[in-house]
Amino acid sequence: MSIERIVVVGAGTMGNGIAHVTALHGIATTLVDVDTGALERALASIDRNLDRQVTKGVVDEAAKTAALARIVTSQDLAVAAAEADLVIEAAPERAELKYTIFETIDRAAPRGTILASNTSSISITEIAAHTERPEDVIGMHFMNPVPVMQLVEVIRGLATSDVTTRKVVELAEALGKTPVEVNDSPGFVSNRVLLPMINEAIFALMEGVATPEAIDTVMKLGMNHPMGPLALADLIGLDTCLSILEVLHREIGDDRYRPCPLLRKYVAAGWLGRKTGRGFHVYE
Ligand code: NAD
Repeated sequence: MSIERIVVVGAGTMGNGIAHVTALHGIATTLVDVDTGALERALASIDRNLDRQVTKGVVDEAAKTAALARIVTSQDLAVAAAEADLVIEAAPERAELKYTIFETIDRAAPRGTILASNTSSISITEIAAHTERPEDVIGMHFMNPVPVMQLVEVIRGLATSDVTTRKVVELAEALGKTPVEVNDSPGFVSNRVLLPMINEAIFALMEGVATPEAIDTVMKLGMNHPMGPLALADLIGLDTCLSILEVLHREIGDDRYRPCPLLRKYVAAGWLGRKTGRGFHVYE
């Protein structure tokens, strides 16, 4: 089956980026969210981000118009999934929520539909166990911001088939991305390596080692990182960072993954980073 319609579940930071890229590459895309406000904000973000690409000369006006015309929105996951060749779930990083979403998709989607999750850390094998088709379930981990970042980490659950993996790898390539296959393990490769660094930067801030600006500047200029770890945490979302660290800590069972108390405090305060205008830095 060729992939002609993709359903993206969750129209937040990642969902709108994924829909942007799939629509721009000619694929009919349905963006699903429980919150109509989120759907409206997603369409506005996609419009704005496409404009940015037009200004840079990487996309022309006609391609932008065509991409926007390929996106429809819906609040009804079951109806949308019934039409899907591939579903990419990008709902919040909460295991129980993802299990429920996959149960719904599994009941509604035709046989042969691939069920992918953009999860940052939740086990693909466990998500797959909540469906009757674990061989068709896979991790498709895009990076933020999706239209810009090259990597798609492709995560094989224990039962994921070679056919499903091949189709997802081919799709990622068709979207202009570079897929890298990894096995299902807490945090996969990307977040198992990245989040301990971000967590350590937050401990350094909490212990008064340096200001947020100083910590980020040291890592940018000293390690040649394009962005400091605290600014990156703000971009990812501090709630998402905390969820990933909790999974790493619980699943691997090693205290080196213990989430920094200051991160917990920021999340409790609702300072979630860019999306709320305030995290370790303040945003207009
Ligand atoms: P977000 O909070 O920005 O967006 C999540 C969206 O899902 C919201 O619009 C919310 O209304 C919607 N939602 C909630 N319940 C839903 C449901 N039952 N059905 C449909 N939509 C629902 O989150 P995000 O940052 O886009 O993260 C989404 C996923 O992508 C998470 O699993 C996260 O770990 C992963 N991820 C995030 C990043 C990042 O940098 N933010 C990077 C890679 C992967």
